[in-house]
Amino acid sequence: MTIRTRFAPSPTGLLHVGGARTALFSYLHARANNGRFILRIEDTDIERSSEESIQAIMDGMNWLGLEWDEGPIFQTDRFPRYHEVIQQLTTENKAYLCYCSKDRLEKLRAGQMEAGMKPRYDGKCRDMDPAGAPVEIKPVTRFRNPLQGAVEWTDLVRGSISISNEELDDLIIARPDGSPTYNFTVVVDDMDMGITHVIRGDDHINNTPRQINIYQALNAELPLFGHVPMILGEDGARLSKRHGAVGVTQYRNDGYLPEALLNYLVRLGWSHGDEEVFSIEDMIRLFDISDVNRKPSSFNTEKLNWLNQHWMRTLPATQVTAALAWQFELLGIDSSTGPALTDIVDVQAERVKTLKEMAELSRMFFEDFEEFDANAAKKNLRPVSREPVEAIRAALEDISDWTPENLHQAIIDTAAAMDLNMGKIAQPLRVAVCGSGVSPSIDKTLWLVGKKRCLQRIDMALAFIAKREAAL
Ligand code: GLU
Repeated sequence: MTIRTRFAPSPTGLLHVGGARTALFSYLHARANNGRFILRIEDTDIERSSEESIQAIMDGMNWLGLEWDEGPIFQTDRFPRYHEVIQQLTTENKAYLCYCSKDRLEKLRAGQMEAGMKPRYDGKCRDMDPAGAPVEIKPVTRFRNPLQGAVEWTDLVRGSISISNEELDDLIIARPDGSPTYNFTVVVDDMDMGITHVIRGDDHINNTPRQINIYQALNAELPLFGHVPMILGEDGARLSKRHGAVGVTQYRNDGYLPEALLNYLVRLGWSHGDEEVFSIEDMIRLFDISDVNRKPSSFNTEKLNWLNQHWMRTLPATQVTAALAWQFELLGIDSSTGPALTDIVDVQAERVKTLKEMAELSRMFFEDFEEFDANAAKKNLRPVSREPVEAIRAALEDISDWTPENLHQAIIDTAAAMDLNMGKIAQPLRVAVCGSGVSPSIDKTLWLVGKKRCLQRIDMALAFIAKREAAL
């Protein structure tokens, strides 16, 4: 039997972290078992669904590399099929028309609440003679839920679950305008699409017994269900926008690698020994839905940052450069004239947490600056630095093979010749070339800035020092 899983988002917003994690688990379960992964867009709520959201969900999945094998299948394309099944259930007396007015249902509900009962439909129209139906009311269609017994299933994550049918009522499967409802369409779709494993958030766990009853009414084979626990924010509350739970593509904008976010997401609820680092190939090899934890997991930005840094340092630099180039673009930096991006990644990856930060801290390799950082210049571009800076300028000018090794040697030699410690040369030089006191190692920095720019900037620093001298 081919394993078939699906991700079935409602396109009413972005693909946020929770949705992406559900998609990832479904995807991994399919890939780990040579199965098929299907994308189904649950867009029956016309008011709340939008084209932008559909696009955002697909963009997020594409960015993460969660490729679907079939779809997207849109529920709005399947209305004739839903109507057919509603008709079938009604004909077989497994569903019935209900004429109860809103007013009656509200009163019923209020009365039950007052009596401390769980609100549920009381089945008034269940056995009504259709001849007595009020013509002025447009009926809904309700599923005839079994009155006795219990619904039982072995959840792939939660283990054995049993819900008494007395807890359930007769679910509306079609609204007065005939449009089908979620718990019904999901069953028809999963049945028609041959889904073998329904992996979804545990906010759907209460829907599952209702859906199982519908499967049974349709004599359809039941899929297995796995309900994955929710994700909490760092403060222990359910993850929400307040926690920065934005669309996953926001992480791309913020300078995270898809490899890092996937690695981070898989560890939200799933574990394999005490390992933390997983490539997508590792995940596919090792993932087993039964290893998903029942307890909610919490979001932890520090861990995400740590993984991002890990992947920036570990992936082949060429794989990181495309994402870095895009960050330069966002900052309006033309990265075509300057050092190779692979060299930037090599030098900067261990110093930053995100590619955004990397791009911000690498502006000086591509663009000149107008002014030195005031504090750094005050401290380091002083009259006493003039001679060392002049000396290192001369030494640098003589270098024809501009390599970090040669640059390093030039600084050591100049310091030795002047009987200074290296910092007395390196620090003014750093401020001269970077504009500020922060940069990677001085030899790598000079190397990346390039000879021509280094000499120009040193001249600018010397002019700055001369001005200070004149003011003395
Ligand atoms: N459309 C549902 C949602 O976005 C998911 C349904 C399902 O996975 O069964 O929450």
